[in-house]
Amino acid sequence: MSVVDSLVDLVGDTPLVRLRNVSANVAPTVLGKVEYLNPGGSVKDRIGLAMIRAAEQQGLLAPGGTIVEPTSGNTGAGLAMVAAQRGYRCVFVMPDKQSNEKIDMLRAFGAEVVVCPTAVDRDDPRSYYRTADRLTEETPGAFQPNQYFNPANPQAHYDVTGPELYRQLGGHIDCLVSTAGTGGTITGVSRYLKEQGTGVEVVGADPAGSVFTSEEAGPYLLEGAGEDFWPATLEPDLVDRWVQVTDRDSFLTSRRMAREEGLLVGGSAGTAVWAALAAAADYGPEATIVTLLPDTGRNYLSKIYNDDWMAANGFLEKVGTAALISDVLKHKRGDLPAVVHVHRQDEVPEAIAVLREHQVSQVPVLERTEPGFEGERITAVVGSLYERALLDRAFSVPGEDGKTVGDVMGPPMPTVDVRETVEAAMQVLTGDQPAVLVSEGPMLAGVLTRSDVLDYLMLKP
Ligand code: PMP
Repeated sequence: MSVVDSLVDLVGDTPLVRLRNVSANVAPTVLGKVEYLNPGGSVKDRIGLAMIRAAEQQGLLAPGGTIVEPTSGNTGAGLAMVAAQRGYRCVFVMPDKQSNEKIDMLRAFGAEVVVCPTAVDRDDPRSYYRTADRLTEETPGAFQPNQYFNPANPQAHYDVTGPELYRQLGGHIDCLVSTAGTGGTITGVSRYLKEQGTGVEVVGADPAGSVFTSEEAGPYLLEGAGEDFWPATLEPDLVDRWVQVTDRDSFLTSRRMAREEGLLVGGSAGTAVWAALAAAADYGPEATIVTLLPDTGRNYLSKIYNDDWMAANGFLEKVGTAALISDVLKHKRGDLPAVVHVHRQDEVPEAIAVLREHQVSQVPVLERTEPGFEGERITAVVGSLYERALLDRAFSVPGEDGKTVGDVMGPPMPTVDVRETVEAAMQVLTGDQPAVLVSEGPMLAGVLTRSDVLDYLMLKP
């Protein structure tokens, strides 16, 4: 029989996975501990269970009681999962920057969710911390686990997560990279590993704008990691050094994890992996670096994994516009010849057949080259033919029979160099100039259209 009594028995024992692809360019072995495989979907299952157990033992939580907690979402899920089984009511107070997926998830567990403004001081009565305090006072039988002060939080990682990692690696761990929110994870795991004499270096990965690495707290979009104060559950002496990571680097690294490793992780996992790859520069091929991947990317499908949200926040823009024209040409439909073109001497119906066959709306017009000459020279371009202009003529100019392309063509399209950026091409691809020629040295390398650029931007990470 392999049956468990409750889901709670399945918390922990998460696997360590080699991050082969994202770490291909660094010497050490880089591993990720996949905390999103906990039954509630995050590392916080571990403390949800531990804090409820401790409260029950201390008589702070009794049958019929209510759990009130300020949470960024994952602790809520860990608490709600246990509370659902033991019959406690849950009220969670969340800052308004948290994703809707997290709020919906907590409501799905039957919890009540109160959303508070992020942009107020933590001592402001409207902050999610103070609102949670007020609700705890006002609700009979209420208990606030208070993950930022509760010693059961780091203790759970000291008792369970640390030993688990130590066993999985046979004690061989050179560097641990973790984000810190409450600091429970990094504190508990580091204390255990250091006490075992592993000689582990502990690297804290921190979002720019969090007080752990910034003089002054500032806004950032990453959820769950970093703080605007130093929590009692974080012991800074255990952290050997901090690496600061921008929202942009965190989110793009999360996306790489999903696309290159198949690990659909949340934002703070991206922060940790980015910092681990930075720290890896100090280690050789024998070293093992472990990152903690706190939660699942399913919490952020409308944010980190949504191209519109990423672009609106300026995280995708540079990837697109910094790309080179040569990258876009490589992406163009594979069944097209390098340069679809017509010749000056072609009859107009022949030229229309070429536009149709290749389903393009414009082509350059070339002078016929001598037989045996490979490829098209940029100097052979004498004009351009637009489907739109041909149509206009068909309706307005009588007696077009027997005309050649040379009779009806317009001036050549502007030329950009294949080594220029997409951004430079966009300067030329304006409203009435939908296509440009691309030169590569003396040769014509292709035609670039606005829709080519759009197709390319949609496909890129
Ligand atoms: N990442 C995410 C997504 C989290 O929810 C949390 C918990 N706030 C952390 C990282 C940090 O974990 P800890 O509170 O143990 O420092």
